Amino acid sequence: MSGLSTSPLQSLPHPLAIAAGVALYCKRDDLYAFDPASPLQGNKVRKLRPYLAAPEALRGRTIVSFGGAYSNHLAALSAAGRRFGFFTRFLVRGEPVSNPTLDYIRANGSDLRFVSRSDYRRKNDPEFLQALSVGPQDLVIPEGGGTAASLIHAGAPFSESVVQLGRVPDYFCLSAGTGCTAAGIVAAAEQCPAKIEVFPALRGDWMRGAIEAWMGRPIPANKLEVVKEFTFGGYGKFPGHWKLYTPPGCLAKRADVGMQDLPPLDPVYTAKLFVGVLERIRLGAYPRKSTVVVLHTGGIY
Ligand SMILES: *Cc1c(COP(=O)(O)O)cnc(C)c1O
Repeated sequence: MSGLSTSPLQSLPHPLAIAAGVALYCKRDDLYAFDPASPLQGNKVRKLRPYLAAPEALRGRTIVSFGGAYSNHLAALSAAGRRFGFFTRFLVRGEPVSNPTLDYIRANGSDLRFVSRSDYRRKNDPEFLQALSVGPQDLVIPEGGGTAASLIHAGAPFSESVVQLGRVPDYFCLSAGTGCTAAGIVAAAEQCPAKIEVFPALRGDWMRGAIEAWMGRPIPANKLEVVKEFTFGGYGKFPGHWKLYTPPGCLAKRADVGMQDLPPLDPVYTAKLFVGVLERIRLGAYPRKSTVVVLHTGGIY
């Protein structure tokens, strides 16, 4: 696919990692993008690759998808529509609102249909979609952008990291929403000794089951750890002072909260992940001399 090859792997010599004797790296998938600083980046591009591999085939068509009012997936897909010349119609969960994500999506020319939470649950019901003028000629992409065909692409950051490091990392850590990206990573790491740590951005005990459902097979207990202590109250919830972590907030103050030397983070996914990994380093969760790769899945920051 033109304009995309691999994302960089960056060493993160954070003071906590140095003190713990841990070799810490960041796989910068936020830089895996068609255009720098576009929301069409990170794991949303990886997941959409089955569709974007031949974008000429999409020209002039309508692509329908679903998400919440802060959906990185809808932002990415709206940018893809604009770039590759297809129309986008999105069912957005909840009351009509405005925020920077939706403003961006609107500016890309997407047709937004706000639907109540109860109607949103009917999003896979053909009759309901028909009522929203979704026709058989339209392409419907699931919430989050992940499909079974996405897994091989979603797992590529793991395989790329092995090549870039020249060895298999001991730990590979990433954030999760639907678990599609995590399933791709676990599948990519299945044949080697790396342990995968998944930090859900949502509360609940369902993440391991969701990842296994994506993969279609059970995962050995010691291959995957779901770290549930860093959801910070649930999806889209985070401490108010986190604006210090994320630009355009006060970057200079990142040192006060131990976020110096880190790439820009978004508060919904990657800030929770990095706070979690740094805290686990501090607590001694990773043995001395171990190699820990943290996947920066991207996001709007
Ligand atoms: C969407 C998103 C995720 C969640 O990915 P899933 O495949 O749904 O688990 C993680 N990080 C970022 C930055 C995202 O935008």
